[in-house]
Amino acid sequence: MSREDHITIYETVVGLEVHAQLSTQTKLFCGDSAAFGAEPNTEVSPISIGLPGTLPVLNRKAIEYAIRIGLACECAIEPVNYFARKHYFYPDLPKGYQISQHTTPICKGGFVRIQAGSTQKKVRLNRIHLEEDAGKNIHDNDTDYSSIDLNRAGVPLIEIVTEPEISSGAEAVQFLTELRRILRYLEICDGNMEEGSMRCDANVSIRPLGDKTLGTKVEVKNLNSIRNVRRAIEFEAQRMAALLDAGGAVVQQTRSFDAGAGITFPLRDKEEANDYRYFPDPDLPQFYVTESLLEKVRNDLPPLPEQLVEKLTREFHLPEYDARVICDDRETAAYFMELTKLTNNYKAAANWLLGPVKSYTNEHSLGFSQVPLSPAGLARLIDMVDEKTISFSTASKQILPRLMDRPGADPREIASALNILQNSDDHTVAAWVDEVLARMPEKVSEYKKGKKGLMGLFIGEVKKISKGKADPKLTNKLLQEKLDKK
Ligand code: ADP
Ligand code: MG
Repeated sequence: MSREDHITIYETVVGLEVHAQLSTQTKLFCGDSAAFGAEPNTEVSPISIGLPGTLPVLNRKAIEYAIRIGLACECAIEPVNYFARKHYFYPDLPKGYQISQHTTPICKGGFVRIQAGSTQKKVRLNRIHLEEDAGKNIHDNDTDYSSIDLNRAGVPLIEIVTEPEISSGAEAVQFLTELRRILRYLEICDGNMEEGSMRCDANVSIRPLGDKTLGTKVEVKNLNSIRNVRRAIEFEAQRMAALLDAGGAVVQQTRSFDAGAGITFPLRDKEEANDYRYFPDPDLPQFYVTESLLEKVRNDLPPLPEQLVEKLTREFHLPEYDARVICDDRETAAYFMELTKLTNNYKAAANWLLGPVKSYTNEHSLGFSQVPLSPAGLARLIDMVDEKTISFSTASKQILPRLMDRPGADPREIASALNILQNSDDHTVAAWVDEVLARMPEKVSEYKKGKKGLMGLFIGEVKKISKGKADPKLTNKLLQEKLDKK
């Protein structure tokens, strides 16, 4: 049989290694600030630059954060832990070694649930471990030399390593999106890939569909967005399939992704395994995760997105769709939860968030934590609509934008200044209704002959002559009564 007669169908296999920067105030082993964006080399104590004679002191918060993600992903938490030195030479690593839990991770196993097509899938984790970050080499500042910024040196990271069981670029997107959502809900990492606080390497291989053994993998680095992770995986899967189809073989390599060209290219072959000469760091004692520490972290664990969806549907009786969109990101969920303390009209609260407030954030490219109007201000608006002082449509179109510009203003004053306070006084609305019916005798008789669809027209006319001030429910009721009588 010639090669052309034989078409092999391949399956893609991906394992991800994700570095997430923990949002502690200070670094993993000293008091330097861990915040992003300071002037280069201003957050660099003798410990950060690795001067001889300095001693690291472990940041307790970082351990608690690692336990948080471990509990959230149902990992086994290791009670006895130590840090090892991982030796290598690189200009951004002044000590000549990185302090890492590579050999003894604090969290083992566990999983992240993703949606794979119409079914749920558990992507199992191999481990989550703590380590310090290196500094940053900057090559594009000057043509003659490179610069080094050591602010990042010593910032706490967790590395989350999956088992090789992600089956496509699309599933990798799902995994990373969900992982980022969990990290943000747990308030342990801001998940910002552009600023490098979440970084991902993708290990990719392919194998003939149905094969049990794994194919040779490549590791793709420098993926700075979730979208690029997918692009790199899809590119690799195609490149490998073409290689194998042509009778070639995949070489185990580390590759880099060129986002502009949409291709990967080799950085180094992985033939000679690095010898990092790991050994336990003698400057750091073992640390223990005691039952009481576990208990404390468990008790302080913020609700996870899925738990919140459950709460919104069960307790607040929201449709599942609304609940899911609200819980999609932590900021929206936090805004909503504040709102529910201030109004009992949960459905109205959801409608406001998913409708006019979301449009506002989209138009202005804001996150929900940046919405100028506070939940209390929005709750007042919801009350006004409930009391029929104003209709939802005028409240959202006319009052909301003004409140966004002047969040402290009183919505009632705005409404009365605009002369749009709604009228639910029977006599006034009845007068508007009478006027409309008197003006359209032919339409009224058509209605009576059975053209019930004309009701919409009458309502619209009343709305028009009242300039939107007639309470719609009352309008409807009075129209029904009067038309039935006539
Ligand atoms: P290495 O020793 O090369 O770092 P590991 O066994 O530590 O490899 O695995 C690193 C990552 O690569 C993990 O996420 C793992 O799931 C993934 N991985 C391992 N083998 C394969 C493979 N054949 N195809 C795809 N991913 C793989
Ligand atoms: Mg590895």
